[in-house]
Amino acid sequence: MEVPTMSELPTGVTRHTFDGTDRLATRGEPVYGEPTDGAWRAWNPNRSKLGAMLELDMDTGLAGGETVLYLGAASGTTVSHVADFAGPTYAVEFAARPVRDLLDAAESRPRLFPLLKDARKPETYAHVVESDVDVIVQDVATRGQARVALENRRFLADDGRLLLAVKARSEDVTREPAAVFADVREELSGGYEILETERLEAYHADHLGIVARPR
Ligand code: SAM
Repeated sequence: MEVPTMSELPTGVTRHTFDGTDRLATRGEPVYGEPTDGAWRAWNPNRSKLGAMLELDMDTGLAGGETVLYLGAASGTTVSHVADFAGPTYAVEFAARPVRDLLDAAESRPRLFPLLKDARKPETYAHVVESDVDVIVQDVATRGQARVALENRRFLADDGRLLLAVKARSEDVTREPAAVFADVREELSGGYEILETERLEAYHADHLGIVARPR
């Protein structure tokens, strides 16, 4: 009988016990009131789609130390964990208010580079973000999520990975999430090969996690 294997966590991400509960954790300054224990800070999958993808054992391909372009960084909840274990981490967010908190999160993280930019206009940050990034993480709660991923594909190395969280309600509140996800997958396949998908339901209602690589 074939025994299913667990995907490995990236180097720099571990499972750590906080108050008797086993949780994902990275090492860094706390950002959103998460529990800490020594240098470790808990990574809350209910607050983070990427955290949920790791909890659900999706094969993200993350190993630790890679260059990351993060789209939809908000105030830095997830991207701060990413910058704890990744290499240079470019964090794009177009709303000024959360970027102020993101700048605070970046203070203790020399590899985290906040960019007050619109992810639909990659040409406005193409001069800052190095080309051939290893990973694009995308969590923009906006209409046209597949298009954003396609427009930013130019930054991704040929053997890189797209780790995308799709929010159905941002595309169309009236449609069945499954129908929205089918459309997003179809559009995405214009530039990416989809390797794995998983509903993030246990942590985030009406969200789909997608792992893909450039075609
Ligand atoms: N990824 C964040 C985390 O886990 O900590 C949460 C992101 S929140 C669900 C979605 C974010 O995407 C919002 O902060 C929103 O302002 C941002 N956003 C939406 N459209 C965007 C765009 N076109 N360019 C950049 N950011 C965008």
